[in-house]
Amino acid sequence: MSLLKSIPKVDRFINNKVFNDFSKSLITQISKELIANLRADILANKIDTIDEQKLIYNVISKYNSLLSPSLQSVINATGIIVHTNLGRSLINEKSFKKALNIATSYNNLEYDLEKGKRGERYSHIVKTLQALTGCEDAIVVNNNASAVFLVLNTFSKGKEAVVSRGELVEIGGSFRVPDVMVQSGAILKEIGTTNKTHLKDYVNAVNENTSMLMKVHKSNYTIEGFTSEVSYEDIVKTAKEKNVIDYYDMGSGHIIDLPYNLDLAEPSILKIMKYNPSLLSFSGDKLLGSVQAGIIIGKKELIDKIKQNQLLRMLRVDKITLSILEDTLTSYLENKLDDIPTLKMLNTPVEELEKRALTLKNSIDSICDCSIIKTQSLIGGGTTPNKKIPTIALSISYKDYKVNKIEKILRNENLITRIENEKVLIDFRSIQENEIKKIEAIIKKVFN
Ligand SMILES: *Cc1c(COP(=O)(O)O)cnc(C)c1O
Repeated sequence: MSLLKSIPKVDRFINNKVFNDFSKSLITQISKELIANLRADILANKIDTIDEQKLIYNVISKYNSLLSPSLQSVINATGIIVHTNLGRSLINEKSFKKALNIATSYNNLEYDLEKGKRGERYSHIVKTLQALTGCEDAIVVNNNASAVFLVLNTFSKGKEAVVSRGELVEIGGSFRVPDVMVQSGAILKEIGTTNKTHLKDYVNAVNENTSMLMKVHKSNYTIEGFTSEVSYEDIVKTAKEKNVIDYYDMGSGHIIDLPYNLDLAEPSILKIMKYNPSLLSFSGDKLLGSVQAGIIIGKKELIDKIKQNQLLRMLRVDKITLSILEDTLTSYLENKLDDIPTLKMLNTPVEELEKRALTLKNSIDSICDCSIIKTQSLIGGGTTPNKKIPTIALSISYKDYKVNKIEKILRNENLITRIENEKVLIDFRSIQENEIKKIEAIIKKVFN
């Protein structure tokens, strides 16, 4: 019981001068909590001495951990450019600076500067998307999952939406097309089989309660062997003949052609636009290389209907998103593709990656064993399933350390690597040029 008497009094404890430079209210709050824990531990006979120095240390540790940011920058050395867990696409600094100016001053988000009246939030990106894709109209929502939901809810509530069985995907973060359809109120009309869907399946599926023929990008898988799927061109034609809408959830949505012949399996938005589709939607932060958003483009009359859906208000985007997105789209219009980090990384020649790998190798050769490896990486983010692109990596080993140990040591320094064939790889495909010096410093720090 005498131990209980020697528990520090909060009032006295917090006045210790070691806390002078800290926020008094936060220190008080943490001290109360830790002192209460101490009392509970004494009563439960878990401790038999009170160490006030240790208590001070614990209070300060907790204080620091509460104030240190949880969201931190990391170096993506996995080689996966569109890494959803690591924040997907990087935003160009110039675009971000423009958004900074918009966000820190008043702006014309919903104000028509010419007329001096209320304007339209979505108008800011429409002209750029029109010029870029030839669409009649466009709208932007929080992400592509919202876009899919909004389109289905607007046009297929209580009505049938026809989808091929081979496209009923589940992508990361439990976005399941069949579940999203049910939630939106649409009635899912599955056609075809897992591996084969024919045009006649679409034609035969249409009845008086059909609202749309929908196609979904196979984000994270491919079907191989005896397969057949219907081209979007034919789906658009059939929809027109049957007087229903066609809608393509394009997922990754690259506007222009991709390198490494990735386009053979993944037609670009510009190619799909040639078929004169009713509606397309795609993510802003996958291969488009911009901010998190869902972009819907298509016929004006249909976009107008979407604008009348109350749900839009729940899914609407902020000025920061619109500003960054507009700037990315402008880079496409000006053909300044190197201003879009995702495309810049994708397009960097292997020879250039090799040069960077050699620079790093030369600077850390004396510290750990490393060798340059020619390998392949995935683009990621549900963009180009199973398609690999060439890359260069530096494999790192140190003494008799196991690969998992090295991976963890580097991860503790926010350097995220990849393990491949029992080797820890630093893959240059997703590393920014200015990060090479930082990697060098990390390796020197942890292996010295
Ligand atoms: C990624 C993806 C989505 C979801 O897009 P988010 O922008 O992540 O919400 C929906 N459909 C497909 C086919 C996708 O690839």
